[in-house]
Amino acid sequence: MSKPLTSLREYTTFALPAQAERIVQADSAAALLMQWQSAQARQQPVLILGGGSNVLLMEDFAGCVILNRILGIQVREEAQSWHLHVGAGENWHDLVRYTLDYAMPGLENLALIPGCAGSAPIQNIGAYGVEFQHVCEYVDVLDLRNGDQQRLLADECAFGYRESIFKHGYRDGYAIIAVGLRLNKCWQPHLSYGDLARLDVATVTPRAVFDAVCQMRRSKLPDPAQSGNAGSFFKNPVVEEATALAIRQQYPQMPYYPQPDGRVKLAAGWLIDRCALKGWRIGGAAVHRQQALVLINEEHATAADVIALARHVRQCVGETFAVWLEPEVRFISAQGEVDAVGVLA
Ligand code: NAP
Repeated sequence: MSKPLTSLREYTTFALPAQAERIVQADSAAALLMQWQSAQARQQPVLILGGGSNVLLMEDFAGCVILNRILGIQVREEAQSWHLHVGAGENWHDLVRYTLDYAMPGLENLALIPGCAGSAPIQNIGAYGVEFQHVCEYVDVLDLRNGDQQRLLADECAFGYRESIFKHGYRDGYAIIAVGLRLNKCWQPHLSYGDLARLDVATVTPRAVFDAVCQMRRSKLPDPAQSGNAGSFFKNPVVEEATALAIRQQYPQMPYYPQPDGRVKLAAGWLIDRCALKGWRIGGAAVHRQQALVLINEEHATAADVIALARHVRQCVGETFAVWLEPEVRFISAQGEVDAVGVLA
């Protein structure tokens, strides 16, 4: 007799109607290892989830979902900095608030990012000019094949724009169990983005930056509790300068961000907006009306709706600008992660 499936809807922020054979929680590295090994013994695929805020479940998952709920925050103070050891299952925004409540600034630009601390290094979360890598001291991983624990220092994590080693060599067979953060006591505000530029660098406080970031995010980004979503659906494309200049000739108002390597970052949201796609809907999925980079589960969307919409968006942008967007969201099939670009191409 087949076992009933268990709904995953409440464990991912997109809130799509997918199910799994089994959903379990792990509150320690030992529990996580045990769950992984017992799924291996049953020959089931495993999906480890934190807040489920950057995944698209394409269909029912044919295996065991392990919710990483390893908690705990330890703080060590040194002369120049605070050092935090944070369990992977801690909620990221609660961590940001905690550090500010205890006068340890440095995470305020990263306020209100959904998800868990242990997921932050995977895509090197970033917002308003600050990325996880700027505060990361180390990432602790569990090698699920032999139970060994390993500490990767920040410069061993191959951090890049929404990139890290945890999407590549340390993706399969490893689980992140904790992160180590270093917050410099000599606080420097990062005010280059959006409304933050209106703040006075001489008098601004970490709390004022936190409040401004929360205000901007709440005004532009959909609350997953209201409309399911996974944040930015696509990465901002980084293109050769000649490509960016060619587009700019036709669209002089296009935002344009030169990178240290000579290439140029374009704003994917702007490209999508120029294709008049805000509010575009397929089935129950829609392009968010305030921020075109976010696809939302507007009304009982299925994964097929979201995929069809993402394909349409990518096609329109590609045909208009000859720039082919890549999803930032990770696509999960019945057996595990698949190449998202391949699905949309
Ligand atoms: P925005 O201000 O509309 O700007 C659009 C894009 O232009 C941003 O994605 C940002 O790239 C880039 N940009 C803006 N100002 C810049 C500057 N001074 N220097 C370099 N690049 C600049 O962006 P938004 O959508 O409201 O988002 C604000 C911040 O929150 C961004 O950093 C964004 O990445 C982050 N965010 C991330 C997610 C996610 O799911 N990953 C969701 C929402 C917002 P960057 O993305 O490289 O910063």
